[in-house]
Formats: sequence, C-alpha cells, structure tokens
Amino acid sequence: MKLFLASGNAHKAQEFQALANATPAMRALRLEIFTAKAVGGMPPVVEDAGTFVGNARKKAQALRVLVPATDWVLADDSGLCVDALGGAPGVESAYYAGPAGDSAANLNKLVETMRGVPAARRQAYFVCVLFLLGGDGREQVFEGRSDGSLLDEPRGGAGFGYDPLFVPEDHTQTFAELGEATKNALSHRSRAWGQLAAWLAAKENVASL
Ligand code: IMP
Repeated sequence: MKLFLASGNAHKAQEFQALANATPAMRALRLEIFTAKAVGGMPPVVEDAGTFVGNARKKAQALRVLVPATDWVLADDSGLCVDALGGAPGVESAYYAGPAGDSAANLNKLVETMRGVPAARRQAYFVCVLFLLGGDGREQVFEGRSDGSLLDEPRGGAGFGYDPLFVPEDHTQTFAELGEATKNALSHRSRAWGQLAAWLAAKENVASL
C-alpha cells in the first residue's frame, strides 16, 4: 500500500516510515510512504483554515490531484496549544513569531508571553492531526494529543520547536531532555499514528484500500 505525504519535508516522510516499520500491522500491509516529490512536488497551500483538521484537509486536497486514484494521500498538521493563551499558538505554532517560521524566535516569544504566569496556570498540550484522503474522496481523520505544562525557561538539546519548554504529564523533564525514544512513546504524533495504524489494521479488506 502506498501513501503519499502532502509535505515537501523528507524528514517527516522518514519519521512516518519509521513509525510504520515499527508497527506490525503496517509491516503486513507493506506500507510505503512517499513524499510529494515523487509526484512532482507539493503544490503551494495557504494554511488559513483556522483548525488543524481544516489545514490538513487543504494540504491533502492539494496533493490529491497529483496522486493515482488507487493510492492514498496522508496530510498532517500539528501545534502547541496553551490553556492560558486561549489555545495559542495552536494552528499558528510554526509562525508564532512571524512569517519567517523561525523556531528559535517562536520559542522565545512563548517564553516571554508566558513570563510571570504561575505554575498552576501553565498547562499546554501538543496536537497532531493525521488526515487520509482516498482517491474516491473518502476522508479519515486521526488525532493524537500529548498533555503537559510549560517551564519558565527552555531546557534540553534534543527535539525541535517548543520541545525545550514542554514537560509531558507524569514527567519532570522536557521533551528536549527526554530524548527521541521517550518522546516518541508519548508524543501527539505517535498517538495519532497509533490510531491510524489501528484503523488500517481493522479494515477487513485491505485490498480495497
Ligand atoms: P507542522 O505540523 O509541521 O506544521 O508543525 C507545526 C509547528 O508546531 C512546528 O513548527 C512546531 O513549532 C510545533 N510543533 C509540532 N509538533 C511539535 C513537537 O513535537 N515538538 C515541538 N514543536 C512541535
């Protein structure tokens, strides 16, 4: 089974392929994940739908026209939602500090915006939406969430984005301190992937996918 990822990011395709390879049901499906590059590149998409699902749908639909009808398109959208900020940066996570999409500037803006907010009001969660779009227009949406709280100052060198500020619940270290293996066991992305894998594994007639 082939999935075309609605993203030009080769790292993302590798990450999803690694998740697929680690999932027995996916190995049985011989799931292969391709980037948009394999079908001519990801068409430009303005991510202005206002929701994670809406943005993921826009990305999936943009690539859908380039992918053979027998194959599926997979799009993802993710971000960090901070309770004290009414869910911000949310769908704006990648561009919180401006259109350049500078992740160090985004992290710094969040540190400053949250300065002085007491520990009891620093809850936040990461969300990942995975959106499957079939050749016949069928849509399947999966959502993974990782709850936690924000430190006052960043800690740790692993990961990316807001990882150095985020401590997942039942832990004392940030995602950036915990490292890749622990983060992957807890992350919004792996939880969304787990749902997608369960859905695929539960399909009675895999051949009809
Ligand atoms: P996108 O899903 O690639 O559009 O990513 C959205 C943005 O959310 C990223 O640029 C990061 O700022 C943030 N983000 C999403 N997932 C994570 C994560 O696992 N760790 C840290 N930041 C993340």
